[in-house]
Amino acid sequence: MAITVHLPTLQNWSCHNCGGCCRQHAIYITPEERARIEQQEWTAAEGVPGPLFVKEGGWFRGRRTRLAHQADGGCVFLDEKGLCRIHAKFGEPAKPLACRIYPYAFHPSGKSVVVSLRYSCPSVVSNRGATLKAQEKDLKELARLVVPEGGDQMRPPAVSESAHLEWPDFRRLVAGLDATFADRGVPLVGRIVQAVEWVTHIGQANFDKIRGDRVDELVDVLRQAVAEQMPPLDRIAEPSSLGRVNFRLLCAQYARKDTELDLRSGWSGRWRLLRTALAFTRGTGTVPSLQPVFRPVPFSQLENSFGPLPAETDEILTRYFRVKIQGLHFCGPAYYGVPFVEGFWSLALVYPVVLWLARWLAASESRTALTAVDIEGALAIADHHHGYADIFGSSSFRSRVRFMAQKGDIGKLAVWYSR
Ligand code: SF4
Repeated sequence: MAITVHLPTLQNWSCHNCGGCCRQHAIYITPEERARIEQQEWTAAEGVPGPLFVKEGGWFRGRRTRLAHQADGGCVFLDEKGLCRIHAKFGEPAKPLACRIYPYAFHPSGKSVVVSLRYSCPSVVSNRGATLKAQEKDLKELARLVVPEGGDQMRPPAVSESAHLEWPDFRRLVAGLDATFADRGVPLVGRIVQAVEWVTHIGQANFDKIRGDRVDELVDVLRQAVAEQMPPLDRIAEPSSLGRVNFRLLCAQYARKDTELDLRSGWSGRWRLLRTALAFTRGTGTVPSLQPVFRPVPFSQLENSFGPLPAETDEILTRYFRVKIQGLHFCGPAYYGVPFVEGFWSLALVYPVVLWLARWLAASESRTALTAVDIEGALAIADHHHGYADIFGSSSFRSRVRFMAQKGDIGKLAVWYSR
């Protein structure tokens, strides 16, 4: 099958062998991959004592098998130099598909495939490496492995709970969203506020008679009206108190690190999670540390102004949003099956989440201003879960996002944490 892949603009990447992906991600494997690894006959003498696999889940979620982790959290196949033993001994194609693909993500878009990237990889965040154009041949090979047979038959994500469009028209909405983020004449926070506003109007539109060029016209009219009517950013109200509660609970989920230890900790782990949820709901006292990079600091400290954002923030986060939008990495099968409008609300919330986490990183080192390193670190932490942690697709998480959108809090949070 001839396959056309659309690569995101602006993004470079090469692996710099940090080994981070092999420490922070659970690698789920198919029965075929398990059989292939068993045939590789690993021994303790090679540094792989076993067990190699962990079974997870139950009858209600389905049983899944993942690679086991070492005591320090690294994959059972990770060597002391941070390299993969399977890759070293049998070559790259012998690894599980999830490892071969990372940090790429491939999503069908009609008869072609769009490529996105995961910003949990620090080299993606810092845009280090070869251009994706230079890797096009390899990416086509990977896309062929990932996109299911008949992927060109897949329908586009829904626009909203009640509206559907075919691929050409769905792509018009996506192009309008990308154009909003490409407009560097408006500060990034302003583009986010505008995008949330017009996308929310898209969710209320009746598309029964809107097709083809009329979709472009609708998007243009909404974009223009929102741009003309948007108040100056310093006149945008503070987030509501309920919006802040929901936002803190969201931040707690983004800030979590589910290590092997957490997964094994049973009731004590659940009790700890409950206490954490209560602390984040109250939002007073000290923020419980959810992973070692975060130190306990007062919640109130994170609400103070941290001054102007580092100059690099615009480039890093504009690139992030455009890669996720162009790669359809925010709705449909790439994001828990949610429609375009709701998926974009979730994506837009990553902006204030990143700024909140960046403040926490800075405050953990007793600083009151952010650096580009804080922004990059916070983005890598946030994107680790976005679209991949089961809880983000749960009804409670989704209703939290919808509630914040309905109350107009997403734009307000973006402005509040930009100051
Ligand atoms: S199998 Fe290899 S590439 Fe995959 S997580 Fe383990 S060490 Fe990393």
